[in-house]
Amino acid sequence: MLMLGSVLAVIAILTIVASLLIRERGNATESAVRSANNVVQLIDADVQRSAELYDTSLKGLISAWQRQDVTSISPELRQLVFFDRATAAPFKGDMVLLDRRGDIIADSVSVIPREDNFSDRSSFQKHRESASLAMRVDGPFKSRWGFKDWCISFSRRLPSADGQFVGIAAATMRLSYFNQLFRSLDVGKNSSINLINAEGVLLARQSDDAGKSLIGEDFSQRPNFQRILNQVSGHFSAMSELYGTERLYTFSRVGDLPLIVVVAQSQDEVYAVWKRNALLVASATGLLCLGILWLSWLLGKQLRLRHNAEQELAELASTDVLTGLANRRRLDQVLKQEWLRGMRSGKSLSLLMIDVDHFKAFNDRHGHHGGDVALRNVAQTISANIRRPGDLAARYGGEEFLVVLPETDLAGARVLAEKIRAAIESLPPFEDDPSPITASIGIASHLPHAADRPEQLFNVADKALYLAKRNGRNRVEPTES
Ligand code: GH3
Ligand code: MG
Ligand code: MG
Repeated sequence: MLMLGSVLAVIAILTIVASLLIRERGNATESAVRSANNVVQLIDADVQRSAELYDTSLKGLISAWQRQDVTSISPELRQLVFFDRATAAPFKGDMVLLDRRGDIIADSVSVIPREDNFSDRSSFQKHRESASLAMRVDGPFKSRWGFKDWCISFSRRLPSADGQFVGIAAATMRLSYFNQLFRSLDVGKNSSINLINAEGVLLARQSDDAGKSLIGEDFSQRPNFQRILNQVSGHFSAMSELYGTERLYTFSRVGDLPLIVVVAQSQDEVYAVWKRNALLVASATGLLCLGILWLSWLLGKQLRLRHNAEQELAELASTDVLTGLANRRRLDQVLKQEWLRGMRSGKSLSLLMIDVDHFKAFNDRHGHHGGDVALRNVAQTISANIRRPGDLAARYGGEEFLVVLPETDLAGARVLAEKIRAAIESLPPFEDDPSPITASIGIASHLPHAADRPEQLFNVADKALYLAKRNGRNRVEPTES
């Protein structure tokens, strides 16, 4: 019971601690997602602002180009008019106007446009195919001019008065802009900030795995990125194909641009503090539970020992040392109980008073030790002849024994008394003593009722025993009712 209680307490403690740890882990995830979201929001705001700047430049270029009077001014002045609003954009690359064939007709880099054709660029082709006047973001690609590094392009369609395609206005932005932006943000060890376009191509990346240049790589076939490309924003934990470890991905689309910021945090980093605390709490709880179980076991053991000792003491207190039969104390208790039970059940209670014959002389012949052995033999013989669970044999004192026989009438008691007498008589001779050990037995049988007391049984049995002695010993009295 004690052990069961302790086990239940231990289970309760473990359940509480486990649920607290699970909740704490959830909090760790939540705070990691929150900080990743802050990074995403920051980038989002910055990129949108840059995109707006580019868009303003493109719109300025297009409205300047649409003016009829620009053809009449000098090329230097025209270049100033076309590209004056373009200077504010960060990490600005070239800005150009292309005609319907893709040839440069105005160039931010030189007054006389460079000779190049961009009809192979996807931005150009897509504007030619679609009537949409919205700004496109394309790339990444390596610029053919200038810094020749990775760029993305912002472009708008040039429509004629009747809506026909007559070319595009395009500006490039160097991706090193993002590197500079990302560098100022800290997302922790083994984590990365990534910018991908809507096709799943990596545009920019900041991570501490220096040397891995993945810009321009297509991630669209990877399951994690397919999940990201299909949603506007969110977060999830998954195995990174690149690192082979679990990572927490938080991502969001940049405004309505075809750009997605993905913050990938290492799970080890996200849960480092939680893991340390969990280990500490789990070991402390484990020790506590082991302590509880050990103490309960110890207490249980002590209680068992005490219980056994008490039982042993109780047995000793009610047993006769020489014969192992019940002693007077126990006899008195049982007799009282059986008297009351007899009153309730209305059945006779019988008592046998057994006295060994001429035992003084036996002691004289064989000494006290021999007498003790003989008393033990007599006690065993009496015990062996009473079989019913309610019957009790006791040593009354000296060489006198009593047998309590509940629910037994005089006739039944006489049968048992005769059996005991005969069994004692037929004990093997003690050390070749020619005179066998015999005993006289007096019987009392009563129907217990409230007016009487159990002591009355004693008196009657004692008188019967006296009669048996007087009538020649080795006999049972009364012989008849
Ligand atoms: P009777 O047939 O009239 O009963 O004669 P008896 O000699 O048995 O009766 P008595 O009462 O004169 O003597 C009882 C003797 O029993 C006295 C004592 O020496 C002996 N006795 C009593 N208790 C013990 C005991 O514990 N050990 C031994 N060895 N003898 C005992
Ligand atoms: Mg006697
Ligand atoms: Mg005697």
